[in-house]
Amino acid sequence: MDFDLFVIGGGSAGVRCARIAAGHGARVGVAEERHWGGTCVNIGCVPKKLLVQAGEYGAWADDAIGFGWTIQKDSHDWGKLIAAKDREIGRLEGIYRKLLTGAGATVFDGRAVFVDPHTVEIAGKRITAENIVIATGGYPERLDIPGADLGIVSDDAFFLKTMPRHIVMVGSGYIAVEFAGIFRALGAEVHLVYRQPLPLRGFDQDIRESMAEALLAQGIILHPGATPEKLEAAGDRRVLSIGGGRTLTTDLVFFATGRRANVGGLGLEKAGVALNAKNAIQVDDQLRTSQPHIYAMGDVTDRVNLTPVATAEGHALADSLFGDNPRTVSLRNIPSAVFTTPPVASVGLTEEQASALGPVDIYLTRFTPMRHNLSGRGRKTTMKLVVDKATQKVVGAHMLGEDAAEIIQGIAIAVVMGATKADFDRTIGIHPTAAEEFVTLRTRTRTTDLAKAAE
Ligand code: NDP
Repeated sequence: MDFDLFVIGGGSAGVRCARIAAGHGARVGVAEERHWGGTCVNIGCVPKKLLVQAGEYGAWADDAIGFGWTIQKDSHDWGKLIAAKDREIGRLEGIYRKLLTGAGATVFDGRAVFVDPHTVEIAGKRITAENIVIATGGYPERLDIPGADLGIVSDDAFFLKTMPRHIVMVGSGYIAVEFAGIFRALGAEVHLVYRQPLPLRGFDQDIRESMAEALLAQGIILHPGATPEKLEAAGDRRVLSIGGGRTLTTDLVFFATGRRANVGGLGLEKAGVALNAKNAIQVDDQLRTSQPHIYAMGDVTDRVNLTPVATAEGHALADSLFGDNPRTVSLRNIPSAVFTTPPVASVGLTEEQASALGPVDIYLTRFTPMRHNLSGRGRKTTMKLVVDKATQKVVGAHMLGEDAAEIIQGIAIAVVMGATKADFDRTIGIHPTAAEEFVTLRTRTRTTDLAKAAE
């Protein structure tokens, strides 16, 4: 065999797995056909956050007036922002490639396709490996409606030559609300079209309600309960039919309607690797596919599609195979954030999920952050703890408000450790912060027991 481990895909999961395995002394090869670092570094989390930050500066300039500043704000230069973003992403991509070669892995710039269960082919060259990892990620999917190709997806959004003045976002998941916030903060008129009554299905109900309010407060126009039917061109403009005879005419339609596992054209049938009902690679808790020496991890398995999960899986597999440290990654209590303005972050169970298991005490607070009493910006913070009534363990923490992601990361440690409400209560706050609210929530808002209600 040419390698002990061959990794297909140089994204978050693949790079970590290859790098750690090489560090353990394994002979490792990695193939990447597009960009090192994968979706997160190139067309996902990292450039997205830079665009979010670009939007925040504009709002801060407005808010500063309430603090005595006189600020002259000119229009935003999208081209300059994208050029700066491209320079930074180029730098990071180089670092990811170097991390691999520095660790002693052999990198292949090209597409790897299975020829048989131990052999892949890259640009006509055959390579054999004892173990193979599939970490090919996912891709954004348009809705299956006539004219969908006239719209864009997140891959395209990072390379727009100019920023359209009028944008329709389709969907209300992570990507839809994040990009709605970005474009609005940079000055566009933004419409959010979604089929649910509230955005962010799957998040806690109070957070979803607060998110709808926050989007409206930002000036985003919401179209709940809408079903896109077709997309047509009218010269340079686009006309989206959203049901009930309603249409929206816009410069740009952006589909943020979910992602699919990237399994096409890999020769998986030749490798004997099976897919599941979601057309993603089926794995067990050791990340093993239906072929025991072939593993899959990250978005290509379509379980929890988050970068830190992918990197944790890559690290765990490398340690298990070559580091004499067999271990798995728990998919419970994974914190995550939505980088809207303000952001949302949560860890653990929602009130709905937890109360379906048994009674829960809810502690909920909404307030205007101190800063905005002077800035005059109508922005509220929502914070919520979900506490198991029987054990008094905090089983969920949710926040919409400035710095939510930074705050919930710390709270997540307590939740993962099984902290109780009393542990939160005996923790002294840091004053004055928003975060201290999580340790000063004295009055129970309500007790919910969906399990009993369902009886
Ligand atoms: P999501 O699954 O979060 O949201 C998809 C959206 O598309 C939902 O609003 C969904 O509506 C809607 N949709 C799907 N199918 C249809 C349909 N046929 N008709 C109308 N609407 C439809 O996907 P995203 O594309 O936003 O993001 C993909 C994944 O990427 C996320 O799940 C997340 O794991 C990851 N991600 C994480 C980020 C972070 O951590 N900050 C940022 C960006 C992405 P409905 O709710 O009704 O199903």
